[in-house]
Amino acid sequence: MEGRTHSSAPPSIARRDVARTMKLVETNLPFTTAKSNQLYQRTLGVLIEASSSSSRGPANFGEYPVFMERGRGSRIFDADGNQYIDWMMAFGALPLGHAHPEVVEAIAEAASTGAHFATATAIELEVAEMLQKIVPNAERVRFANTGTEAVMAAIRLARGVTGRPKILKFEGHYHGWHDDLLVSSNVMPAAALGLRTDPIKIPDSSGLNRTALDDTIIVPWNDIELLRRAVESHPGQIAAIITEGIMANMGVIPPAEGYLETLQIIARANGILFILDETVTGFRIAPGGCQQHYKLSPDLVTFGKALGCGLPVAALVGRAEVMDALQWGGVLHYGTHNGSRMGMFAARANLRVLTRDNNASFRHTWKIADRLCSGLRDVFKKKGVSAIVQNVGPMFQILFTDRPAIRDYRDFCRYVDRAAFQKFVLSLFPLGVYTSPSAALHSIVALAHNEEDVDLTLAAAEKALGSS
Ligand code: PMP
Repeated sequence: MEGRTHSSAPPSIARRDVARTMKLVETNLPFTTAKSNQLYQRTLGVLIEASSSSSRGPANFGEYPVFMERGRGSRIFDADGNQYIDWMMAFGALPLGHAHPEVVEAIAEAASTGAHFATATAIELEVAEMLQKIVPNAERVRFANTGTEAVMAAIRLARGVTGRPKILKFEGHYHGWHDDLLVSSNVMPAAALGLRTDPIKIPDSSGLNRTALDDTIIVPWNDIELLRRAVESHPGQIAAIITEGIMANMGVIPPAEGYLETLQIIARANGILFILDETVTGFRIAPGGCQQHYKLSPDLVTFGKALGCGLPVAALVGRAEVMDALQWGGVLHYGTHNGSRMGMFAARANLRVLTRDNNASFRHTWKIADRLCSGLRDVFKKKGVSAIVQNVGPMFQILFTDRPAIRDYRDFCRYVDRAAFQKFVLSLFPLGVYTSPSAALHSIVALAHNEEDVDLTLAAAEKALGSS
């Protein structure tokens, strides 16, 4: 990203005509991010890493991050006026795309009638009832603000209800930034991981409570035998097994066939609660998430991201028998902003749109993702580039690797070329395509994306890979 001169205001995006695709791909040319750079310089000495989360700063972008200014539908616009097709969609928090009119209206209504009453509200009840209809195991619902908070509540609940101390988590899974599970979820050199049979627990941060990880058991994912062994070697001690339904923090890695079902059986047989973390997969893979898609019946499920359609809304749902322990005098769960009125209004509008016409939005995102992913595979093949595209419906990631598939964290650490990914993604920016330059994250198809977005992206990908 160079701070070259900016040509003029971005031309408006023409529609339909695929023959004009190559021209549209050049919307941002000559490309400059000079204003982003100026803003970045101002952040020095004020903000850390120019933002409020380490995953948004210069570490991913090279010199400085692109400063985004506004979004509409599938498009996002930066401070220099560059326009991009946005495949990142706020880490998946925007299942409808940017500024969906019904969500905007809902937020405005809530804002103009009072943002927060700190009492019970009918809107909270209404959204909870919607969740009960949409999510199979949602016998009870508690709202929170972030995925991290929902998972923290789930862990405390599991320990409280079972009276057991340990939590089993998988390598490469991320469940938020709280102490208990902040281990082995960052990409590391393969040599640091230890043996599959006895993985080294690698804390992801300094400053963790010294004993925080003592009760955390780490197991490689997608391997039933290793899971069985870990459970057998801690009889009566494991409160919960927590898993992402689809790995979404090491690119996109689907569960092996029957894996989650067998995990559930092992948990049940050993009095262990099964927590399914659907912070990413919820309201994305299917209306009822991975739970519905893979026909699971977890005890507890956590949601975040897509639920609030850009506002901080998360939820913990689950079996009444377990969830009811959250009552006063049992397992404590507080939060000033839990179930906030604006968030609830946004969530209601969001869920209405997502489930409209017999869940048409899900059919749309799966179809668009299919076109995009198969198109990208064709482009890489045509260009002779060693890259694969892994996806489950609208979640996808490009993995620069010479392996036919990436099956777990260890594969990712060993075989994925993250620098090549970053280079590729950054070369798409001038061509009007945006996604996170972090190979360990993933991209998202939202309701706002259409076939033209796909065709433009494929043309940009082909151009970025050169004329060879
Ligand atoms: N669980 C999973 C699977 C996630 O991917 C994330 C965030 N990427 C979280 C939990 C934490 O959610 P939040 O960032 O909203 O705290």
